[in-house]
Amino acid sequence: MTDGDREEDAFLARLKAFEGRPAATAAQGKDPVNQPMIRHWCEAMGDTGPAYTGPDAIAPPTMLQAWTMGGLSGHTAGTGRSTAYDELFALLDGAGCTSVVATDCEQEYLRPLRPGDTITFDAVIESVSPRKTTKLGTGHFVTTRMDVRANGEPAGTHRFRILKYAPAQRKPRAAKALRPRPVVNRDNQGFWDGVREHRLLIQRCTGCGTLRFPWLPGCNHCASPDWDTVEASGAGTVFSYVVMHHPPFPAFDPPYAVALVELAEGVRMISNITGVPYDKVRIGMPVQLEFLRVDDDLELPVFRADGG
Ligand code: ZN
Repeated sequence: MTDGDREEDAFLARLKAFEGRPAATAAQGKDPVNQPMIRHWCEAMGDTGPAYTGPDAIAPPTMLQAWTMGGLSGHTAGTGRSTAYDELFALLDGAGCTSVVATDCEQEYLRPLRPGDTITFDAVIESVSPRKTTKLGTGHFVTTRMDVRANGEPAGTHRFRILKYAPAQRKPRAAKALRPRPVVNRDNQGFWDGVREHRLLIQRCTGCGTLRFPWLPGCNHCASPDWDTVEASGAGTVFSYVVMHHPPFPAFDPPYAVALVELAEGVRMISNITGVPYDKVRIGMPVQLEFLRVDDDLELPVFRADGG
């Protein structure tokens, strides 16, 4: 064992000592569950689910964490917050892990939340990982579990994970930066499978027939989770567009047009317009789907305008 290994083990032991320490105890939600916040959330999310309005409205389950947030002004002193989290962050800062990024969260719902419910919660530092190296840099994942209660009854669990890390040294820029990769997950896998076969697939709710794009796990119209797909004909029109000048992104060459294309089927998608210069793109312009081979690993659906 080298001195470096011993140092790392000792540091990890100091981090591990935070596991199980409370980050907040019997903390209070700033407001009871209430209809205005539910309405604002649904409007922001575009969620028209019928369960969230009317006299028997419940709160969208995914709002769980919102009821525990301190807002811009933060939670006032003495509301159950402990210093454990600050101490852990200071320790990691001191070791050079000065950057932080939220990586993921998991929620479990135990009871619906209704307007008038008062919210209390406990949070505990559940785990601190050994040192990990990611593309962003080297650091430690910190998982915090928050148990939320409504009127004293267990209502749900919100578990979130951050990476506190020392930023990686930037490599000298490659000759040509690659375009960002799409994030493919279980909710949109089918769309990207279609792209690979040069088919543009639109999700269709099998409950009510509503088409939806981009892909989502459920129907905004009737809340059904069941769906199939229809293949887009490929015809569309430019519904709206912007011309990007600034900020510059690697792999993109400004100025260029980013268009919102309305497909013949009625749904809209954001894409690039090919075949005409950026300053010739116009609202209402007819366009036709094609597939653009961007690089060895990436092919994207784009829309060709008739340049004539
Ligand atoms: Zn539906």
